[in-house]
Amino acid sequence: MLVAGNWKMNLGHADAVGLAADVVQVTADATDAVGVAVCPPAVWLDAVAERLRDSGVRLGAQNVHPEESGAFTGEVSPPMLRDLGVHYVIVGHSERRQLFGETSAFAAEKVRSAQAAGLVPILCVGETLDEREAGDAEATVLDQLAASLDGVEAGDLVVAYEPVWAIGTGRTASPEQAQAMHAAIRGALADRFTGGDGIEILYGGSVKPGNAAELFAQPDLDGALVGGASLDAESFAAIVAAA
Ligand code: 13P
Repeated sequence: MLVAGNWKMNLGHADAVGLAADVVQVTADATDAVGVAVCPPAVWLDAVAERLRDSGVRLGAQNVHPEESGAFTGEVSPPMLRDLGVHYVIVGHSERRQLFGETSAFAAEKVRSAQAAGLVPILCVGETLDEREAGDAEATVLDQLAASLDGVEAGDLVVAYEPVWAIGTGRTASPEQAQAMHAAIRGALADRFTGGDGIEILYGGSVKPGNAAELFAQPDLDGALVGGASLDAESFAAIVAAA
């Protein structure tokens, strides 16, 4: 099981460092059994890395550019993240896809270069409400998954199923809806990679202390990518404890 907190574009320097220290403290008894990670804004990665040193909590980044270096103003490369001690990097989050026009092809480039640099991509896929209501949820997610893995060789990878309609809305996929999609993703990964059925598949979208246990009880849920609730150390710890 892996529980990762996506802090998104939140927290100033002092609050980010403070939350990192709190997360280390409140998850200390859990990190032997459950993988725990936090993904702060890029500007605080260095300061948060310092707080996570010698703890069981791993560092993740929220985004990366596929090129190693060059004229890409404002971007951060995979080797730069590695230099900071980053372990995971979120790729293809629906906010990147919807707000910044990022395509699955671009996500696939990021997955490939992140893996080449020794980072573990957390590849996000998920359908919109319209796609779900039209009965296209599974086809949409599996198409997105296949396109976002174009040219990707077997390697370290985590997949996160994040239905867009459940992100930041307080509306969670039911355990049955999540399980059905996770099983479909697991099947696709098994077809795509040797040993692909062992790839961790996280659920994301309004995960909270009150719904985490029933989600984690589903056989194909291997953890969670937590947004809002990861900004509160006690709530995050309660989700980790449910894993
Ligand atoms: P919320 O937990 O705030 O719904 O966000 C989920 C998410 O987007 C994590 O990446």
